[in-house]
Amino acid sequence: MNVADLLNSVPTGLWLKGASTPSESGRTFDVINPATGEVLASVANATPADATAALDAASAAADEWAATAPRVRADILRAAFDAVTARADDFALLMTLEMGKILPESRGEVAYGAEFLRWFSEEAVRIGGRTATAPAGTGEIAVVKEPVGPCLAITPWNFPLAMGTRKIGPALAAGCTVIVKPAEDTPLTMLLLAQVFAEVGLPAGVLSVLPTLDAPTVVRELMDDDRLRKVSFTGSTGVGKILLAQAANNVLRTSMELGGSAPFLVFDDADLDKAVDGAMLAKMRNGGEACTAANRILVQNGIREAFTAKLTERVAAMRVGPGWEADSAIGPIINAKQRGSIAALVDEAVAAGATVRTGGKPVDGAGFFYEPTVIDGLPDGARIRRDEIFGPVAAIVGFDTEEQGVAMANDTDYGLAAYFFTENVGRAQRVARRLQAGMVGVNRGVISDPAAPFGGIKQSGLGSEGGSEGIEEYLNTKYIALPPV
Ligand code: ADP
Repeated sequence: MNVADLLNSVPTGLWLKGASTPSESGRTFDVINPATGEVLASVANATPADATAALDAASAAADEWAATAPRVRADILRAAFDAVTARADDFALLMTLEMGKILPESRGEVAYGAEFLRWFSEEAVRIGGRTATAPAGTGEIAVVKEPVGPCLAITPWNFPLAMGTRKIGPALAAGCTVIVKPAEDTPLTMLLLAQVFAEVGLPAGVLSVLPTLDAPTVVRELMDDDRLRKVSFTGSTGVGKILLAQAANNVLRTSMELGGSAPFLVFDDADLDKAVDGAMLAKMRNGGEACTAANRILVQNGIREAFTAKLTERVAAMRVGPGWEADSAIGPIINAKQRGSIAALVDEAVAAGATVRTGGKPVDGAGFFYEPTVIDGLPDGARIRRDEIFGPVAAIVGFDTEEQGVAMANDTDYGLAAYFFTENVGRAQRVARRLQAGMVGVNRGVISDPAAPFGGIKQSGLGSEGGSEGIEEYLNTKYIALPPV
């Protein structure tokens, strides 16, 4: 499909009761193409009253969906996987247009995002329980799993499809109804997904999508309504803390996938080429706009210069351009504000004495491009060593011993992902255990896998998404005490 036809085919209303619907206020907001600054589409701007309508629908549909046979829920999820896969080109182009990532990465996200639908279609029919005889022989213990009820999923802009399917897949598999509040920068992908779900037979009200420019009030309206039973959030740690406090009111179940500051350790005994390939993926994939992105590249001093020189050569060769152009290696930053915060981190580090090896500046002209950058020699107090960069900036720091490298890696409030490169098996086992992170990549620059649990520790979050763990987040455990046999 060409761009105009694709944009015409995407619903731009709220997705409510199985159909695209205007906001009760009649208000809309613009979705911007970050590569050009131009308006792609205007979408309905949900109000608190719209949110209540979505929760009315989610509550009305909840019992029937929970009672729908697991096999039927599985078949709908599987049909959605097939439909998204059949429309992979449309989803990919749409993500490139609204989020900016290069088309090959958008295609990768379609495969990754769709896989959560297939994976959880397979999990829907394997929701277990257990029985046991009470040790005293006084009765039988039956443990059953039940859907938690209507859920709110709040998603970020960096993976417009996958951050939605990672929540929708397990929720629907478990028998929960879902309201998605997509990021304001990238609502179109989620609206298209909702339409696809309706086409494959998901009953009206089971899935709603509420784009809005007014996230705090719309979300608050939902979280203060005691019919909502769970909130699953992916986004910044600051907003996650606000939502955790709000969730306390009605004691909601929560899943929190928050910020990260992933260390990427390269030891002297690493395979240098593998480590550089890994750093390119861990740092530059998705334009560095990932909570798992390598935020602090820590290199043992014996190979620091060799590593930095090779990485600089690779980064300097990346062509910056619109994601739909075949020779673009990196697209724009999502918006002007985000680009400004990346530029501020780099400028501050340079003013404090860091060395720019390549890049280091915004790109002039239309869109929100920033040069892929390598900086080295970061002084101790530099903010870039603490804050999440969320952009294509590789920030390199040296260390001397394993002890020191691990201590530097763990010296953060975050604990999402960590990566390290070594060819020494003993070191690999030791360091993997000592890194304080929910996910550790050993000689790998990409770790996400729908079949593995994704989640952080410390201030990076609560709970796991994906894997066989992911569905538990949407299930309550009930104990039924039965009389002795
Ligand atoms: P980012 O910095 O990646 O944009 P945010 O945490 O600001 O991350 O946003 C992630 C999601 O949380 C988005 O869908 C956004 O609209 C939503 N959001 C932001 N602030 C609030 C809030 N106060 N209450 C509820 N949702 C919010």
